[in-house]
Amino acid sequence: MSRVAEIFDTMTYGPAPEATDAATAWLDEHERKFSLFIGGRWAEPKSKKYYETSAPATAAPLAQIADAGKSDVDAAVKAARAAFATWSQTPGHVRARYLYAIARHIQKHSRLFAVLESLDNGKPIRESRDIDIPLVARHFYYHAGWAQLMETELRDYQPVGVVGQVIPWNFPLLMFAWKIAPAIALGNTVVIKPAPFTPLTALLFAEICAEVGLPPGVVNVVTGGDKAGAAITEHPDFDKIAFTGSTNVGRIIRRATAGTGKRLSLELGGKSPFIVFDDADQDAAIEGLVDAIWFNQGQVCCAGSRLLVQESIAERFLEKLRLRMSKLVVGDPLDKGVDIGAIVDPIQRATIERWVEIGRAEGADIYQTECSLPDQGCWFRPTLISNVNPASAIAQEEIFGPVLVAMTFRTHKEAVALANNTRYGLAASIWSENLNLALDIARQVKAGSVWVNCTNLFDAAAGFGGYRESGFGREGGKEGLYEYLRPAWEERPRPVLEGSGGKWGSAVPARPAPVNGHTPANGPLGSIDRTPKLFIGGKQKRPDGAYTRTVYAPDGEIVGQVADGNRKDVRDAVEAARKAEGWANKNGHTRAQIVYYIAENLSARAEEFAERIAAMTGRSLESAEEEVYAAIRRLFTYAAYADKFGGSIQETTLRGIVMGVNEAIGVVGVACPDEYPLLAFVSLVAPAIARGNTVVVVPSERCPLAATDFYQVLETSDVPAGVVNIVTGGRDLLAKTLVEHDDVDAMWYFGSAEGSCYVEQLSAGNMKRTWVDYGIARDWLSDTHAAGEEFLREATQVKNIWVPTGE
Ligand code: NAD
Repeated sequence: MSRVAEIFDTMTYGPAPEATDAATAWLDEHERKFSLFIGGRWAEPKSKKYYETSAPATAAPLAQIADAGKSDVDAAVKAARAAFATWSQTPGHVRARYLYAIARHIQKHSRLFAVLESLDNGKPIRESRDIDIPLVARHFYYHAGWAQLMETELRDYQPVGVVGQVIPWNFPLLMFAWKIAPAIALGNTVVIKPAPFTPLTALLFAEICAEVGLPPGVVNVVTGGDKAGAAITEHPDFDKIAFTGSTNVGRIIRRATAGTGKRLSLELGGKSPFIVFDDADQDAAIEGLVDAIWFNQGQVCCAGSRLLVQESIAERFLEKLRLRMSKLVVGDPLDKGVDIGAIVDPIQRATIERWVEIGRAEGADIYQTECSLPDQGCWFRPTLISNVNPASAIAQEEIFGPVLVAMTFRTHKEAVALANNTRYGLAASIWSENLNLALDIARQVKAGSVWVNCTNLFDAAAGFGGYRESGFGREGGKEGLYEYLRPAWEERPRPVLEGSGGKWGSAVPARPAPVNGHTPANGPLGSIDRTPKLFIGGKQKRPDGAYTRTVYAPDGEIVGQVADGNRKDVRDAVEAARKAEGWANKNGHTRAQIVYYIAENLSARAEEFAERIAAMTGRSLESAEEEVYAAIRRLFTYAAYADKFGGSIQETTLRGIVMGVNEAIGVVGVACPDEYPLLAFVSLVAPAIARGNTVVVVPSERCPLAATDFYQVLETSDVPAGVVNIVTGGRDLLAKTLVEHDDVDAMWYFGSAEGSCYVEQLSAGNMKRTWVDYGIARDWLSDTHAAGEEFLREATQVKNIWVPTGE
């Protein structure tokens, strides 16, 4: 006879299967065949093509799905464009009612959605039922609120227009909701393509749209494969593309949309650290890890896939972890007692397997549990890879499966260095009972979401999105709204490209001043020659190439000469800017004082600057004085904002505090336009540095002397060395070097349409954020068009730090 204790030890869960009748009935009602949802009705694909979707857990076919071609996408865009005319003018309150109705209907059909999701994707029903679907409903409630408040809270904005959206398979309905809810709440219309593996809940959602009477064409669902995705991202009539998926496809889309004037947001991959300090509650951290890497079979963009554990506790911690792993139940996703469901597809399974083999070949230790697996379907055992070199492929690349890679660290500094030793920056989880330490590390880790003593928490009220190659843009929170808005005064840029035959950014040789009797205007004949150098790392430096450019007035008069910077100068400037990064840690008050001081020193030399501007531009002295005055005023604006744009507390469903912190982006490359050589320079540099970035600036190519005169202003204003670096010369050559530089985090380019196109294309290298003007002039004198929120948002990225409170 067994003792009670033994029974407890050996007892397993009996199966608790979820009924699939309603989902099966729904599929049967549609005769297991689905067309496209365009203009509020089902439409046969013009391509006439269908493909089959099957259940990952059983490999059983589920339904035939339309595979859209280009002409289908075209029809969907037309339907969305037609709907935009009225939907964008529909009162916010009316839009709010629709979103509210959608939220309610999702709740009413929540079990059907959850079962369908688990069938199609293979995720455990506990997750689809308790996490995915409730978060979907929450997203529509939250954004119903923004539709209601748009006319009061966002009155200076308008919708961007018709949006093309492409999503992955790991959270099919949740990603769908994250894309659609903010877009339609704010008056945009959408064409969305679910991932080929997981289209079913999107199709059920299409029926909900019809059920709530959403006007036809506001939401169009176009199913299909990668080609259908490309047909969306390459279609000329979208005003914005929003993509979630792999970094590689993100790169393709960045290049495909370059120079088109379409807005773009990219939510890409990750390799997020899960950091355990020696003073962590280890049992809690182990449970955290289960949620971090075995949630959704590890097919989570923000999965805590890199365990960094302090060396002093590592051995014991990994032992505990293996024990916990051995208890994880892998099996039928529709069984409520299952922890880990099926991998979405044999292709994905093979990829995961390949990564584990790479780890083995790299000499790492592989531990896999011995749990039983169902005979049919697509499964992968929970896996722990330890003894890993931080530079190895498995420590660097996204595996996107239930595979945890473990490394150790000794000091706090080393923990931060390891955490940031990745090209990604999506999320991080930090475990320590010492809140001072945890929050300090949270500030230093480069990631969009940081969870302190918790992991994988999401809510509609806090934006989600990446740093670095994890993409740009946010979904959720007020910060996510701006992805679907443009300033009320701004039109959609439709750039006309002339093309340089691929020679953009090549060097234009500097010439000496022609000897034709013109007099340099920087002093009477006989005064001491003054040729400004470059300004790098707080010092005036001779240009590497030892070339000089002559600056002419519009009438051909020589105004002066400047150094002609080259690639090497740009690289030196980037290095200096990177070294000065500590600037971001100075408090806002300190930065404000310095920016005010720049304004004060500029003001003291206002007359001299005005004369120089008048000489270079040929404008009247009065007009030049107006420019200098506006530049001083603008410096005051950003000195003011240096301590007034720090972020906010996000009102999520977490019992605790979620801090939305507006962080500096890092090193920002800035190429200035020719018009308003001082004011445009100041309008771009001031917000960047006020918010803690360091900059490498290429001043106006035609009128650079306003910027070189500015060195002295900077030198006398306590600006730390390397915070502002100025390289004069050919704008496009220098901008090209900046945008191709992997250590530049963002590139702002104000020049030609063609240059803007190249900047966007080349930024795909390290997926740096870009801000370009497509050659469309801005009214730099206007405080509405050339200052304020838009500039501050470009100068920052939101990090949400989640801190649970209570026992
Ligand atoms: P994927 O990039 O292969 O596909 C995503 C979507 O893009 C699919 O709908 C696909 O059909 C489409 N697509 C593929 N090639 C395309 C092309 N050339 N042009 C246009 N569309 C194209 O990614 P996946 O395998 O479906 O999803 C996994 C990836 O998604 C992982 O890298 C993961 O990290 C990432 N992801 C990121 C987030 C986030 O919010 N950052 C969320 C979920 C998943």
